[in-house]
Amino acid sequence: MKQQHDRDVEALREQLLKNSEGPYSLQNHPHPSNITRSHTYKSKSPQLNINRLNRVLEIDTKHARIIVEPRVTMEQLARAALKHGMMVPVIPEFKGITVGGAIMGGGMESASHRYGLFSENCLSYEILLGDGSIVRASPEENADLFYGVVGSYGTLGILLSIELRLIPAKPWVKLTYLKYRSISEAMDYFHKNHAAKTGPDFVEGLVFARDHIALIEGRFSSEKDNALSAPSMKYPWSKWFYTHAKEMQHQQEEKMPLLDYLFRHDRGAFWIGAYGTHWSSIPRYFFESRWNLPRLAKLLPSFKPENFKGPEDPSLGFRLLWGWAMTSHRLYSWLHSKSEAWVADHFIIQDFCIPAENAAAFVEKVFDQIGIFPLWLCPTPATQKPQILSPHFLPSQSSLIVNVGVYGISPRSTMPSALVHQLEDWTKNFQGRKVLYSYSYYTPEEFWKIYPKNEYDRLRRTYHAYRWMELHQKVLRISK
Ligand SMILES: Cc1cc2nc3c(=O)[nH]c(=O)nc-3n(C[C@H](O)[C@H](O)[C@H](O)COP(=O)(O)OP(=O)(O)OC[C@H]3O[C@@H](n4cnc5c(N)ncnc54)[C@H](O)[C@@H]3O)c2cc1C
Repeated sequence: MKQQHDRDVEALREQLLKNSEGPYSLQNHPHPSNITRSHTYKSKSPQLNINRLNRVLEIDTKHARIIVEPRVTMEQLARAALKHGMMVPVIPEFKGITVGGAIMGGGMESASHRYGLFSENCLSYEILLGDGSIVRASPEENADLFYGVVGSYGTLGILLSIELRLIPAKPWVKLTYLKYRSISEAMDYFHKNHAAKTGPDFVEGLVFARDHIALIEGRFSSEKDNALSAPSMKYPWSKWFYTHAKEMQHQQEEKMPLLDYLFRHDRGAFWIGAYGTHWSSIPRYFFESRWNLPRLAKLLPSFKPENFKGPEDPSLGFRLLWGWAMTSHRLYSWLHSKSEAWVADHFIIQDFCIPAENAAAFVEKVFDQIGIFPLWLCPTPATQKPQILSPHFLPSQSSLIVNVGVYGISPRSTMPSALVHQLEDWTKNFQGRKVLYSYSYYTPEEFWKIYPKNEYDRLRRTYHAYRWMELHQKVLRISK
């Protein structure tokens, strides 16, 4: 396996050196990207194909580490480690997110309150630099690059292999649902949980309404630990996790197989797929975006954001009919059928990392002026390490941040880009950072006031990054 890896890496290096033009981008992989931005820039640049780098290279249970290639998906990673009763502590929620993408995009999930971002569980990287050299980066070796690549979206170097740590895992997760009546109560819980250092293995929040916030604790459990009910979410017609969580009562408990738990938000991509239940959305999507028939689309009932009070919970009928099309894989395939601009013009799909002491005020603003429900809350410690591009590297002294996921159609405006820019302003004022997988509406000048340009440029010079695009060229979209 290692020899094949070395041969594939050598072929990549040759491909890079053969062509003096640039900047290079990465060829799309067979799993549609979990990034919501358009990839049209790829057609204008030479492309490196790293798709063969999709193997688990080594599992060393004695030293609790695993070495994988960057195109390994979260599902592959979780299954490979679980065969040995172990797991990488943080596994982002969509099955097709790749290891490379999770590092470059600042991936996090419900174990992050304890283990930080996905990248905080990486021990070292093998990286291809723009001049064709291959280096190792770890906290001891090329440490500035090791920390700098997090959130850099491939603009500092190409990951070739990644060494991650493992922890023991159990086959079940016992879930406890807590119901809070205000966002400040939920934030108090996050603060206490952070201070306690011990506590559940997993924590996330789903905000269904101003006065209905479900905090969901998960604890590893072996099968015989308890006699709790175990809902199945495996089948296309199964209930989606968010609707199930909405119905659970305070302190109600249940258990779920670990793999089902890790990917519980995959069907429906949290609840984004549930917007398909609205009578005007699927026809409008096909006529306006997929078939490019804007004149015929005008015959459809007009698009009124105020009709979208939130996603309608998918009924059994909808799930039977459309459940097969609602995996994150299929939804992203639809998105990347040249529909990124259409989605960005109708939906807000964004995550914001806000210092915990400001998070309640931020969420209140979202309640008042954006009006999207549910929201996703994911607490994670802030970092003191120089992860200069990462969303959890904040200028404030906060030790805890809360990621607020805003996914849906705002009933307040037909111009999501204006609302996103407003969210970006609040994020800046509350000393937070957004996650850059989605479009950003900053000007380059605004953008580089938030991220340290001098340090980024220094990294680019030191590590010969002239062969890769610059970060702002990838992530910014000019406002409409
Ligand atoms: C609705 C929604 C919810 C989300 N929820 C979560 C969540 O709960 N948790 C979470 O962690 N994330 C979440 N994400 C974000 C997702 O993790 C990021 O978008 C991630 O970067 C996607 O990875 P990918 O493998 O699909 O992307 P890709 O498009 O393959 O890669 C992402 C970026 O990384 C670069 N890259 C990929 N591989 C390499 C490499 N080997 N070397 C250098 N650069 C590379 C690419 O050039 C690209 O810029 C969510 C996204 C959406 C839309």
